[in-house]
Amino acid sequence: MAGDYDIIIIGAGPGGYVAAERAGAAGKKTLLIEKGHLGGVCLNEGCIPTKTLLNSAKHYFHSLHSGDIGVHVDSARFELSEAMAWKEKVIDTNRKGIAFMMKKYKVDVVQGEARFLDRSTIAVGDEQYTARTIIVATGSSPFIPPIPGADGPKVVTSTELLSLETLPGSLTVVGGGVIGLEFASFFSMLGVEVHVVEMLDEVVPFMEPELAKNLQRAMKQVKFHLGAKVTSIDTDGTVHFEEKGKEQSLASGLVLMAVGRRPNIDGLGLKEAGIRTGRGGILVNDMLQATAPGVWAIGDVIGKSLFAHSASRMGEMVVDRICGGVDDIDWNAIPWAVYTWPEAAACGMTEAQAKEAGFEVASGTVHMRINARFLAENGTTPGMVKIVADKDGGAILGIHLLGGVCSEMVHSAALMIQGGMTLRDVAKTVFPHPSVSEVIREAVLSILEKEEHS
Ligand code: FAD
Repeated sequence: MAGDYDIIIIGAGPGGYVAAERAGAAGKKTLLIEKGHLGGVCLNEGCIPTKTLLNSAKHYFHSLHSGDIGVHVDSARFELSEAMAWKEKVIDTNRKGIAFMMKKYKVDVVQGEARFLDRSTIAVGDEQYTARTIIVATGSSPFIPPIPGADGPKVVTSTELLSLETLPGSLTVVGGGVIGLEFASFFSMLGVEVHVVEMLDEVVPFMEPELAKNLQRAMKQVKFHLGAKVTSIDTDGTVHFEEKGKEQSLASGLVLMAVGRRPNIDGLGLKEAGIRTGRGGILVNDMLQATAPGVWAIGDVIGKSLFAHSASRMGEMVVDRICGGVDDIDWNAIPWAVYTWPEAAACGMTEAQAKEAGFEVASGTVHMRINARFLAENGTTPGMVKIVADKDGGAILGIHLLGGVCSEMVHSAALMIQGGMTLRDVAKTVFPHPSVSEVIREAVLSILEKEEHS
């Protein structure tokens, strides 16, 4: 099927397939090359399988702890194989959806590993394809740090954990970032003894520290070892680490290595095409153009914002620009969420970031339990919202949420920040009652009240 195309896209993750859809819809002759499955890490080994499994675990966990609200479940049982089967079904349905969209927009899809021969020629096995425009969307893979024993038989990455056949008796998670905490939440809700060993003094380092501390406290079943450095891992799964100057050891049924991701750039022939890389991955300018003319790079492989929705938005932006349009991304208005129980989510700057950027900050924090709907549905589970605003003019700079399913509220923060809304704009907006979202307005009102009294 060798041939000449308007646009070739390498990698069919949320960056690549969304770019392909948009290019096809714009009438461009488009080729999408994928060596694995349509949907990339997000659909096959990331966002979707983790959230599907977390949903099963949350149902199970809530059924065990719903006595306080009058629901007594005497025989709740978690069947890992059935949860895994449901996860596979969800993945399969979504893969079919992507394949349908590729057909709809007349995108050719080639299965195989792509590599550049030069900046406009791509080889897949013995076949060659050419295009004036090439988008690299090859994503990222788990990073394995050079810790002695990190390649041992009991050490797994997030990818392997997603097809476990039996639950481990205990799990040590190395890394207290988003991926580590989501797995810690999943396994601990199922009754597995979980330890998280994190080198920094707080979990999810880019999170507003006040909320990160409360998220950690809310995950009561998990034992956290912060400021702790893993020194080695034995073949039987014993993890050795230094915590506050003391040597510690943890016997673990399994060890999850979740210390970060590395860009997929090896074997791509980037040098042959004149595409330069840096520490984060492929180097790009503000328009996401790589160093070779006609080549663009999006998603995890550039290391700028490692979220599926960022990759998709980058895909849309570059195709719009390739087609002659004007499109930009407001990098400060990209929301994110941690799907632990309870969830955490945010968009925009933390208070410290806002101060560092030179703003005089006005901030307000309220506990979600002041909200009737939150109390009714979450009881005493912690929840809070913090708003960071510019004192001069009241522009909203950051919204930080912890509690319940706050991932479903954080898009409103993105709208407020991207739309340049002020505290007074939000105060004049009507939120539905009873809804947990009302706490965002309450936090805004708390800042305005403070200002009135100062
Ligand atoms: P990827 O999704 O990594 O896709 C790249 C594709 O390129 C892959 O399919 C790969 O096979 C293919 N490829 C690579 N090299 C070649 C080659 N040479 N030739 C052909 N094909 C190639 N993000 C969120 O926003 N929300 C979440 O809840 C979330 N949860 C996550 C949970 C886990 C456990 C993990 C690991 C990640 C999670 N992420 C989440 C991150 C998210 O998955 C990534 O940010 C997203 O998938 C990046 O999209 P991408 O298109 O850049 O690359």
